[in-house]
Amino acid sequence: MLNYNRNKIIRMSGVEPESIVDGPGFRYAAFVQGCNHACPGCHNPQTHDFNGGYDVTVGEVFDDIVQNPRIKGVTFSGGEPFEQVDALLELAKAIKANGLNLMCYSGYTYEELQDRHDMATDRLLEMLDILVDGRFVESLKNLELAYRGSENQRVIDMNKTRTDGKVVLYQSGFGVEL
Ligand code: SF4
Repeated sequence: MLNYNRNKIIRMSGVEPESIVDGPGFRYAAFVQGCNHACPGCHNPQTHDFNGGYDVTVGEVFDDIVQNPRIKGVTFSGGEPFEQVDALLELAKAIKANGLNLMCYSGYTYEELQDRHDMATDRLLEMLDILVDGRFVESLKNLELAYRGSENQRVIDMNKTRTDGKVVLYQSGFGVEL
């Protein structure tokens, strides 16, 4: 029995229902609205204003994801997903219960998120297969990098990180079909 709160509100900037650039494989990308990091050179400045974008319910987004059988995974991007952790946790529960993999971007580092000592943040981290962490740093920008914009950012294999008890970077083909 799938137990999640469909009625929580997500402030959304937009979605890409069939993306091949926001993570491995064929994915649904949800770009949330609102970010305080103000990274110079950010490519998505329209996502910064917490009053911008539009409201959707968790249930509406989930229904939009699962009506497409080609989708194998979901990516939370933004904006800053970890500013809307309560609603995204509910969406993550439904996504994982449906057998889809889950990737999330954050301008916070993994360690900064752990240091919040916030239960919803911890639970969302537990549900991720991949976390891309850290602010965008223009001087470290590199167009050759997969799934990240600057050298300081990390693509973290969260399953191996949980198993090993230390940060393990994602290598393609790590067992989960992405
Ligand atoms: S965290 Fe992402 S969305 Fe926010 S300012 Fe930095 S690059 Fe832009």
